Amino acid sequence: MKEIGLIFGTRPEAIKMCPLLPALREEGFATRVAVSGQHRDMLDEALSDFGVTPDEDMHMMKEGQSPSDVLAAALTGTAAWLKKRKPDMALVHGDTATAYGAALACFLAHVPFGHVEAGLRTGDLLSPFPEELFRRAIAPMATLHFAPTAQARDNLLREGISAACITITGNTAIDALAMTQREDFTHPALSQAAGRRLILLTMHRRESLGTPMQELFSAVRELANRHEDVYIYCPLHPSPAVRACAAPLTGHPRILLGEPEGPLVFHNLLSRCYLVLTDSGGLQEEAPYFHKPVLVLREKTERQEGVVAGVLRLAGHRDSLLREATCLLCSEDAYRQMATAKSPFGDGKASRRIAQAIRRYWH
Ligand code: UDP
Repeated sequence: MKEIGLIFGTRPEAIKMCPLLPALREEGFATRVAVSGQHRDMLDEALSDFGVTPDEDMHMMKEGQSPSDVLAAALTGTAAWLKKRKPDMALVHGDTATAYGAALACFLAHVPFGHVEAGLRTGDLLSPFPEELFRRAIAPMATLHFAPTAQARDNLLREGISAACITITGNTAIDALAMTQREDFTHPALSQAAGRRLILLTMHRRESLGTPMQELFSAVRELANRHEDVYIYCPLHPSPAVRACAAPLTGHPRILLGEPEGPLVFHNLLSRCYLVLTDSGGLQEEAPYFHKPVLVLREKTERQEGVVAGVLRLAGHRDSLLREATCLLCSEDAYRQMATAKSPFGDGKASRRIAQAIRRYWH
């Protein structure tokens, strides 16, 4: 039986890799999971929500570490695990330091690996930073490329990746959503919203830190002041740099700040909210599945197909955020247009397509 080793270390990677485990087993593969621990608490919560216990934990999260520290630890940690475990193929996800370090370790050890969520590009090496570099650098080393959309495949083709190695799969984030919905869900944000329109807010990207993030948060407060019938819930990212920007959100009667939620809780809030304001990558894919409009708090997105489809709008500055949000809150037509546009990000069968493509690789 062929063995597939999945290597990841952050919350979003866990959410998008866990759905692969049952799909790979159904296709007749043995699976092993190695985690770097790049996000310690948030990773553990996600693993627990999906009922996954890693086979190997590199425990690499250290106080105050830089992207270079994370990268070095992922490289050496994965190299040691590959030597011990000898999987027939590895899978890495997306564009984190864990993904790049693990991909490089596979390449150096001649272990074939598949890149899940391959081909996302903004075209700007500094945005998102350093993820755009990491994902571009993974591509020439990967054996198989699992592109979530046709646009992601086209990006890879432009970089000289052979069409034979690329499969368009949809995004595994959508597969995860079917695993986390609960009918009997309750949450303080829902009860405190008390019939008002719930807006979910998250921000964490490195390139937004400092003044840009503070200005966007103060625009969110302005939005709450202008619209009495909205209630805003923001589970704050644990990064101290993010928390240092959050002062404009404190002390408002209709803005609730919370700790990061596990995916099960967060996905259930997502399916019940009215609007999403975020700089997150994964949320841009997930929210349209539930027909929730997303204002992307960034200047650029690598999910441009969502902008073209009409499910995402860029709102990376105070003025554009206030303008776009006011439009969606005041115009039923504008809201309906975004909420009913067709999402390009997948149909919940991405994991199965990936498992089948791996099977074809050996036949
Ligand atoms: N998410 C979560 N809890 C939260 C906020 C987000 O579980 O409090 C989930 C969200 O549904 C998505 C993923 O985390 O699946 C996105 O993670 P993040 O925004 O940290 O990273 P990105 O997607 O930008 O890489």
